[in-house]
Amino acid sequence: MRMRARDLYRLGRELRRASRGLRFRLTATYAGLFVVLLVGAVWLARTQLSGNLDTLATESLDEDWTALKGSILRIEPAGDSGENEAWWQYDKDDPDETTFVLDIKKVLLITDSRGQVIQDHETQEPAESTIYQDLTPDRPADIQQRVRQWVKASKPGQAGRPFWMQKRDSKGNLYLIRAAVMWDEHRRAPYYVALGTSLVKNEEILRRYSVMIFAGVIPGATLLGWLVGWLVAGRALTPVRDVAQAAQRITGSNLGLRIPSRHAGDELDYLILTFNRMIERLEASFRQMKQFSADVSHELRTPITGIRGQLEVALMTAGTTEQYREAMFNALQDIDRLSQIVRALLLLSQAESGQLALLKTRLDLGLVLEDLAEQFQIPAEGAGVRLSAECARSCFVDADRVQIERMVTNLLSNALKFTPEGGEVRLRAQPLDGSVEVVVEDTGRGIPAKDLPHIFDRFYRVPGSGTAPAPEQGLGLGLSFVSWIVKAHNGVIAVRSAPGEGTRFTITLPAAGAAALPERVTEDASQTTELA
Ligand code: ADP
Repeated sequence: MRMRARDLYRLGRELRRASRGLRFRLTATYAGLFVVLLVGAVWLARTQLSGNLDTLATESLDEDWTALKGSILRIEPAGDSGENEAWWQYDKDDPDETTFVLDIKKVLLITDSRGQVIQDHETQEPAESTIYQDLTPDRPADIQQRVRQWVKASKPGQAGRPFWMQKRDSKGNLYLIRAAVMWDEHRRAPYYVALGTSLVKNEEILRRYSVMIFAGVIPGATLLGWLVGWLVAGRALTPVRDVAQAAQRITGSNLGLRIPSRHAGDELDYLILTFNRMIERLEASFRQMKQFSADVSHELRTPITGIRGQLEVALMTAGTTEQYREAMFNALQDIDRLSQIVRALLLLSQAESGQLALLKTRLDLGLVLEDLAEQFQIPAEGAGVRLSAECARSCFVDADRVQIERMVTNLLSNALKFTPEGGEVRLRAQPLDGSVEVVVEDTGRGIPAKDLPHIFDRFYRVPGSGTAPAPEQGLGLGLSFVSWIVKAHNGVIAVRSAPGEGTRFTITLPAAGAAALPERVTEDASQTTELA
């Protein structure tokens, strides 16, 4: 018993899970729609059928009435009583006519205009059939009113409209009644004649039709609809399952895998394309992360190895205080570099994870840059490089002064570092339409085209050549900072460089009050960034 309860519970859980699936929901929608349409169509057909059956019964009663009124029934005075009676005129030897009259007499009522049943001359009994007596009776008052109504409505040569009623007998069988007025032989008095026909057969036809449709056709069609829907939905969802399986095979260790396209050009192909692009981006950031950890370990290992080497040598070979001092001095220099790297990395990761909040104020970039240019005059002179600043006024931007200074300082120190003696470094700031442009330009060694796309990557340094300063001097993090600062201020940076001729960095920031840069600027930047 306990086992059965557990099985039931499991079955219920499976069903619940299946009912949440897309295949189930698609099938349910399809089958539901199908059933609604089917029930609608069937109901329409039933209404049509019922209408047709009613019309047939009505027409048959109309025909009976015409025959009755035309020649078969007469209301005439009886021989001795003087009262009017219902006379039947037909050939009693003709079986067809006899059957017809017998049929008509089955559901029949003939009364005078006051609602009193008159006598049948043939049977000498009241002209009200047993079946009619069993029906809901016509009250004399109703009959009187109908007769008056009929007489009023009938114009000369034109009869009034008959009264149609549906009545049930004590067993519940339904009858259609047609009541109208007939005049006596001399058109002196109107008589009420109600003629009926059984609708039992019609009701039976409709009942059988309903049973067949609602107990057979609809459940069968629903089942079929569900089955077809289930199969169609299954077929439609197979590619989705394939895509999901292919996506499951892609893990962190095989990000190179792609979901194969079906080349159907449909929504699913679009989904696959989107998926593949997402995996591409994921792969790129995985690669970057790996590269970054390799670079960090490498960068940290070099000074650590240096420190260790110097201390070991000092321990083994140094004899004098002077030699120890020299070893410690060298070790301290390496420690300085180590802490520089760690500090820069920390700052960069804080910046990129959004922990470094910008303190934006309205700045005139022209003034800020002029101050910076002045600070750089002494190192420029020391390097034998001419530094000129051309900063227009009213270059207003909403920016964090510290970060903007860091950005320009990085660019200026790079320019000075990579420009040989006798060269020139130019700093320019000018307001443009909706933006402010800052240019740092030098006549230094330039950057080869193949390195240009990587200079903003962390730790990327262009391998040094000839007399140029050793790349180890820098950390390779300066331009990463510059790029983050520009991005954080909704700006763009473009670089143009020719080896041996010089480099030009152009930064465009939105002018104060503008949330974003004009489109023209972003397009220009994307065109120039990778140009040599
Ligand atoms: P670093 O701290 O080494 O200067 P950066 O990220 O600032 O690192 O620069 C990355 C590399 O880009 C530099 O190593 C250098 O090779 C190259 N670079 C940057 N600015 C210039 C420039 N003005 N002229 C030539 N090369 C440059």
